[in-house]
Amino acid sequence: MNRVPVLPTARESGLIRCHACALVSVGRDHHSCPRCRAPLFMRKPYSLQRTWALTLGAAILYIPANLFPIMTVIQMGQGEAKTILSGVVALIEADMWPLAMIVFMASVVVPLGKICILIYLLLSVQVGLKTHLKERVILYRLMETFGHWSMVDIFLVSILASLVQMGTLATIEPEIGVSYFAAVVILTLFAARAFDPRLIWDRAHDQR
Ligand SMILES: [Zn+2]
Repeated sequence: MNRVPVLPTARESGLIRCHACALVSVGRDHHSCPRCRAPLFMRKPYSLQRTWALTLGAAILYIPANLFPIMTVIQMGQGEAKTILSGVVALIEADMWPLAMIVFMASVVVPLGKICILIYLLLSVQVGLKTHLKERVILYRLMETFGHWSMVDIFLVSILASLVQMGTLATIEPEIGVSYFAAVVILTLFAARAFDPRLIWDRAHDQR
């Protein structure tokens, strides 16, 4: 059982920290920062709603990102479209295990893990879960740290497409799937930014 600190929080004391210049001011007296004029808010506005919308958008777009090919490999005049998973299988068959693992991690494990963690955090805040406070914040930080690695996939396709242009011998062309995948990555990045991890502690405090 996690112990919640008994000291009053900044929110309970009516204090707001400016997100731009970090000046602490009394929330009741100001709507914008007295020093830098940035808008002041106790918590990120509409955090849950915005995070839900972005997360569900990412989850929906992840389906076409996997169904449609992300690139076509044209060798000796013969083209073969690859989805994310068939690309991983092709890399394994070509004995390129390390690259296959990187693509699998960046395109399956990280985005799916991120969507699952976001949904878990949102649900846990909404039902007012009072346990595993620290663990949930650690999950949030892990997601923030590793979430950017999904971009590796986009870079991989764009680098391959620009490098492998050997005329009739071999060419790689990006396909529509990579656009859907890029949208998934961008939406999950924004979703993680929209979520305010302080809500985890707020709900536990409110029900103390
Ligand atoms: Zn400020």
